[in-house]
Amino acid sequence: MTVRWMCLTCGEGIEESAVDEHEAADHDVKAHVVPDRLLSNDPWQLGAESLTDSKTTEDS
Ligand SMILES: [Zn+2]
Repeated sequence: MTVRWMCLTCGEGIEESAVDEHEAADHDVKAHVVPDRLLSNDPWQLGAESLTDSKTTEDS
């Protein structure tokens, strides 16, 4: 299973390693558990993936 993290306060997906930083700043962090089976079969999930990926490209 894959766990995706989302910060509702920042309005974007975040790395698991960044969760502590956002929570420390009082942000509203949510975890989405994505079963691997859905990842390979569900076209809706693929669409969500590409949306998320465009947000998480390297900017450091
Ligand atoms: Zn945040």
